[in-house]
Amino acid sequence: MNIGPYSVEDYMHLVKSFHGSLAPGLMIGGFMVDLARSELPDGVLYDAISETKTCLPDALQLLTPCTIGNGWLKVMDFGRYALCLYDKYEGKGVRVFLDPEKLESWPEIKMWFFKLKPKSEQDADALRDQILEAGPDILTVQHVTVDMAPLQKKGKGAIAVCPSCREAYPAKDGQTCRACQGNSPYSQEPRNVKSGLRIVSTKKEDHV
Ligand SMILES: [Zn+2]
Repeated sequence: MNIGPYSVEDYMHLVKSFHGSLAPGLMIGGFMVDLARSELPDGVLYDAISETKTCLPDALQLLTPCTIGNGWLKVMDFGRYALCLYDKYEGKGVRVFLDPEKLESWPEIKMWFFKLKPKSEQDADALRDQILEAGPDILTVQHVTVDMAPLQKKGKGAIAVCPSCREAYPAKDGQTCRACQGNSPYSQEPRNVKSGLRIVSTKKEDHV
């Protein structure tokens, strides 16, 4: 049995090194990607959507040319364990989801997916065995057409230097960059000490 171009064992090694652990969702994700690709016409150039931010984006990045960085993978966090591969020009694609209705004969997978027992009480080996045995049997395929307009890449447009942090940002975002508009993830915006530019501007403000 293979997952993408890899043996199951090689894929598990790859998952461990890339994702940090052998997450059950990534094993299932491998079968999901394979199934979706097998339903796409040969040679089609495709983009990908993950409908969850958990695990599935990594299966897509490991097994397809689509990554978050190259823009071919979109993560739409609906919390649904589903992915879609679609023709990047026409939008015709294949959606695959983990189907709750197909989990009755796979109690370990059901327990994990619906969190019916705390992780510490789940049997990781039995879960892995069931995932490998079930393969694509717990998945459902749908043929879909992606609404392309909202997904089109929007260029950054003109670049300006933010008067507050002195870093480059897309001018269309406003008078200052979005971080300086209060969206910074840091408790305090880091200061560009090396150039001294921030210090000058602070001094100026002091004298106002
Ligand atoms: Zn800024």
